[in-house]
Amino acid sequence: RGAGLRPHIAVLPTPGMGHLFPLAELAKILVSRYHFTATFITFAVSENKATRDFLSTLPSAISSVSLPAVPLDDVPPDATIETRMSIVSIRSLPAIRDVLQELRSTTNLVAFLADFFAADSFCIARELGIFYYMFIPTNLQFLTLMFELPTLHATVKCPFQELVEPIKLPGCVPIPGPQILTPLRNRSNDCYRWMLHHADLYHQAQGILVNSFVAMEPRSAKHLTAGGRAGSHPPVYPVGPMIQSPSATSPTSLCIKWLDEQPQCSVLFVSFGSGGTLTRRQLGELALGLEQSGQRFLFVVRSPSDEDSSSTYFTASTRENPLSYLPEGFLERTKDVGLVVPSWAPQIEVLSHDATGGFLSHCGWNSTLESVSRGVPMIAWPLFAEQSMNALMLENAARIALRPKAGDDGTFGREEIARVVRELMEGDGGKEARNRVKELKAAAAAALAEGGSSYAALDEVANKWKGSL
Ligand code: UDP
Repeated sequence: RGAGLRPHIAVLPTPGMGHLFPLAELAKILVSRYHFTATFITFAVSENKATRDFLSTLPSAISSVSLPAVPLDDVPPDATIETRMSIVSIRSLPAIRDVLQELRSTTNLVAFLADFFAADSFCIARELGIFYYMFIPTNLQFLTLMFELPTLHATVKCPFQELVEPIKLPGCVPIPGPQILTPLRNRSNDCYRWMLHHADLYHQAQGILVNSFVAMEPRSAKHLTAGGRAGSHPPVYPVGPMIQSPSATSPTSLCIKWLDEQPQCSVLFVSFGSGGTLTRRQLGELALGLEQSGQRFLFVVRSPSDEDSSSTYFTASTRENPLSYLPEGFLERTKDVGLVVPSWAPQIEVLSHDATGGFLSHCGWNSTLESVSRGVPMIAWPLFAEQSMNALMLENAARIALRPKAGDDGTFGREEIARVVRELMEGDGGKEARNRVKELKAAAAAALAEGGSSYAALDEVANKWKGSL
């Protein structure tokens, strides 16, 4: 290990573009500001064209290595995403060890950064004598819940959904039981046990980097950063918002060309992240609600799934032609005000465009941060994972989102959708959310700039890692 070599960091994202994007941004800063080199270690389940293409765009100081596939034939087909990720992560430990050992002998490996489903591998970094930190691609509210989970598990005797009173976490908005993180909703499902397993591992990290910033969650930040320094859990560093940069090279897409022709702040962008799907009926109601609102929209449509709203999470694409599921005549009737694209849109470019005035989102945390950093107010439509908790925070604490009310069967009807869309784009509620998100946009930029809270947090961590050379 030549002393002249740059410090090296190994980064392990769990599958999903929403985990890869923020870690890549973080790695880019470590490279440009602190002169690190980095290796991304990716799981075989993340092997798809979108991931490969994305990794190939990173600077040359960041390389990547893919882990071999692990057998999953014994995992029940109905196992949740969280269960699958956890099993893949544990079964990949021997291969992760090989990669880290190799990096230890060929580079100045100083630190290992694993995201929140991959902390089982900390023991390997500990053996190798390098730093081991965790990255949370979501927020401080989620981290607070995970820190409190062992206590909640021991003290709450009924399923969380049956709680009459909302769950009160320090520094967070009250969370009604039915809106808790999806893998915690059913205690008899394996994924509940896995979340308890991970909650224990969170305490083993030497530090936890979170993709949020102080002004976004001021009360949680106060609670977690003070508590961490006092030693009740590892130090917590809000280093966000780490969001993907707009692509410099890709040809201007159809979406951007279409937005170029729309008036300023007039278009609602509608998208459910890299894998969220609606039921067939809900997709139809949404389309008709958009039409009824009379507002302009850019609608990313994925084929409906009547089983699981996260079923395409790993593939980021849909099986059949999604547009065939839209209501009869919808495309023709709305062609002057709406653009419908199948499966995927260049989201960050869309949110950065002047014509975009609102974002109907599943409240995935990357989407949320992207909307905030571009000053776009939201309609919160959570589907799975921690998205319902994010929606509560966005509506009640950050106050940058409006929410439709569901009918008795849990579906959002077209009238309600049209109402909330009009309110966001033209009403007083939308105006307030827009003003507030503009404040947060400025706060996000300030947090990342030299002297800002996120800059300082990352500075502390990077210097600690470098000091170990
Ligand atoms: N994304 C995109 N185009 C799409 C859908 C998603 O570029 O059509 C990007 C989006 O900008 C974000 C990420 O994929 O960076 C989705 O992450 P998020 O945490 O919002 O949701 P997830 O996909 O993890 O549910």
